[in-house]
Amino acid sequence: MEYKKLARTGIEIPEIGFGTWKFRGESTVIRRAVELGANLIDTAEIYGTEAAVGSAIQGIRDQCFIATKVSPGHFHYKDVLSAADGSLRRLGVDTIDLYQLHWPNRSVPIEETMRAMDELITAGKVRFAGVSNFSVQEMKEADRALGEGRVVSNQIKYSLFDQGFGDEVIPYCEERGITVLAYSPLEQGSFEADARKRKELGNALNRVSQETGKTAAQVLLNWTIRSPVVIAIPKTDRVPRVDENCAASGWRLTDEQYAALTQAAGAVTGRRWWT
Ligand code: NAP
Repeated sequence: MEYKKLARTGIEIPEIGFGTWKFRGESTVIRRAVELGANLIDTAEIYGTEAAVGSAIQGIRDQCFIATKVSPGHFHYKDVLSAADGSLRRLGVDTIDLYQLHWPNRSVPIEETMRAMDELITAGKVRFAGVSNFSVQEMKEADRALGEGRVVSNQIKYSLFDQGFGDEVIPYCEERGITVLAYSPLEQGSFEADARKRKELGNALNRVSQETGKTAAQVLLNWTIRSPVVIAIPKTDRVPRVDENCAASGWRLTDEQYAALTQAAGAVTGRRWWT
């Protein structure tokens, strides 16, 4: 596993982490991910998987970097504080390593939400603050509210099949050294069916798979983590796929392979489901 800096914190995080939305696997799956270095485990209060993460990391918590999220319905000051306590309890930890605002909520002033975030950091309940599904403009507002440079990450949908939001957010994050956590990098498991529908992209993916000797999933993940600020957080319920996904790290597509895939994918963009 190769590691990248979490923004300018000096902390290293793996370029392949582990997502847990809809996770129904055994603890051994998460423990295998940690064993292979994919020790950034992403969850959210809304997923219903914090307790499963908590029990999987028992005895190995110090080897893990735990990222969870507060739901937009809890962005008022007091609600953020109690949501964090709920997550800490379900995870069975004293500190959340990365606490992310799950998606923007225009009806609550970001200053109010970040006042609670600041208090959680001061109290040692949260190490670092992040956001998710935030546009560049929303990132600027969040950063201003918490204090310049203190929002260390933005978690966004980003895959070869859906590059639109990344095209907007990643250049800004590269400029500032902000980390991007790419979610649904395998298109929620539909990448094989999608590749069959999009012939040019499917052909490019097959060709690069053959050239590299890597699986299509590994090629997709490697494409996703091309930028020095981007890590991917694929989810799987299965140990063999943890091994497969982690082996997407430690090598690089050539410039030609990267360009061929990007060009074949074109600029198709998914809907912003949270707006
Ligand atoms: P994903 O990681 O793109 O895809 C997961 C699906 O792909 C599962 O159905 C899994 O099936 C399958 N899969 C995994 N590895 C595979 C492989 N090597 N070959 C073939 N299929 C494979 O989708 P995601 O769960 O939406 O995204 C990842 C994580 O991002 C989430 O778990 C969550 O932590 C985060 N996320 C965040 C947001 C947000 O708003 N911030 C939104 C969505 C997701 P099996 O489990 O059967 O292997």
